[in-house]
Amino acid sequence: MKAVEIICRQCGADTLLNREAVYDGFTRTGERLICSGCGFEYASEEDVPFKVQQASPQVFTDADRSTKIEVFDEGENQRLCRYCANYIVNPFTQFCALRKKEVQATDTCENFSECGGLDVNPALGDNVPLTRTPL
Ligand SMILES: [Zn+2]
Repeated sequence: MKAVEIICRQCGADTLLNREAVYDGFTRTGERLICSGCGFEYASEEDVPFKVQQASPQVFTDADRSTKIEVFDEGENQRLCRYCANYIVNPFTQFCALRKKEVQATDTCENFSECGGLDVNPALGDNVPLTRTPL
């Protein structure tokens, strides 16, 4: 049974409400609502002078929450030749189609061209990985 605080209308005490189940034979027919201080019985739940619970004070506000820390800067990788549309890899070399010269995957380039970050060869369709050497 949960303790429910009341301010009894009869005795005026700051006390607890007793709930006693009422049975008719084996059938529970109701509940008696009784002041634990004076024994006054309340007619119904609506009749009980429940003690109004103070709303617990808000200790923390949104302003106290630390701002989300981004551990990885996504922009960091975005200009690497590896992610450039002009980056071509074959078993012998890594090549920039734009500058017509050999490059490293980790090179950066001012002519970087976004390829959407997809590791698929559009000529061969989806789900066919390019033959890119792992970094
Ligand atoms: Zn009472």
